[in-house]
Amino acid sequence: MKKVFCVGELLIDFVAEKQGNDLSKASVFTKKAGGAPANVACAIAKLGGNGVFIGCVGDDPFGSFLLDVVKKEGVDVSLAQKSDTFTTLAFVSLAEDGERDFVFSRGADKELTYDLTLRKDFDGNILHLGAATALLGGPLEKTYGKYLFDALTKEMFISFDPNFRGDLWKDNESQFIKKCKPFIEKSHLCKFSLEEAQLLSGKTDVYDACDFLHEVGTQIITITLGKEGTLLSANNTKTLVPSIKVKPVDTTGAGDAFIGCLLHQISDLGNFKPVFENYALLLKMVEKANKAGAITTTNYGAIIALPTKSQLEN
Ligand code: ATP
Repeated sequence: MKKVFCVGELLIDFVAEKQGNDLSKASVFTKKAGGAPANVACAIAKLGGNGVFIGCVGDDPFGSFLLDVVKKEGVDVSLAQKSDTFTTLAFVSLAEDGERDFVFSRGADKELTYDLTLRKDFDGNILHLGAATALLGGPLEKTYGKYLFDALTKEMFISFDPNFRGDLWKDNESQFIKKCKPFIEKSHLCKFSLEEAQLLSGKTDVYDACDFLHEVGTQIITITLGKEGTLLSANNTKTLVPSIKVKPVDTTGAGDAFIGCLLHQISDLGNFKPVFENYALLLKMVEKANKAGAITTTNYGAIIALPTKSQLEN
């Protein structure tokens, strides 16, 4: 089984207790572990895979809490770094209409420094870059570029999820699009939400968006479409892979469960050739990943809602 190195942020989500409150009125917050790349590492570990998290937290109680949570799920955190800068915090309240009130206090996640010694561990493994905060600058952004370069020279399978957060790129979407381009160009697999595919391609139609993004470079594209399932595109073939019917209560983390499950299956293959050559196999993998995403929506929270191997199989 290959290792899946997931690089990026692990942060505290302070979620306002009373839904419907705006942040100026909220008084009670629940502390939760968040950060898409860390969620993906958890999704892989919960399925019995080899998820490795590479990111930076503060050398403070929040940082210790976060690493404990992720470690308990079976993620290898030996490559995580601690910084004197405080742990990154996000304060979120969700109104009943789904609108978010959001305050982001960026701290230690941006401090991740490049580790040259990792090159030997990278050999033939998988690299997942989930760029929610990584492209916002700081040492992390430079580290991202360097790991992408290392991954190419070390024949890794490279996966990219832009994880666009509108709150973080207000009035600056063109910068986001520009910064994502080299990652889409060099990755073997990209996972987009519909909003991301439309934003990054400038096309409204999902099939046109997909064609555009292939032209940028990536060979395998998955566009997740919530309850509609996933559009898979590879080898000049596109399939809308339906999801399973569930009663969703909270969709947080569904996308991370999806890509985590897909990467876990790829890591189990031993070599990456079939992923590029066997479309039927890829289709089966996406069906399973859809199931992982769907199960995640049936529970509250992100990490806690990610399915285990037995939940996925039953
Ligand atoms: P996020 O960024 O919130 O983690 P996302 O927008 O990237 O998520 P979604 O499309 O919400 O990803 O979900 C990922 C996958 O999970 C979907 O492709 C689908 O297979 C499954 N899924 C999500 N929501 C539902 C649902 N309501 N019913 C069934 N399956 C779902």
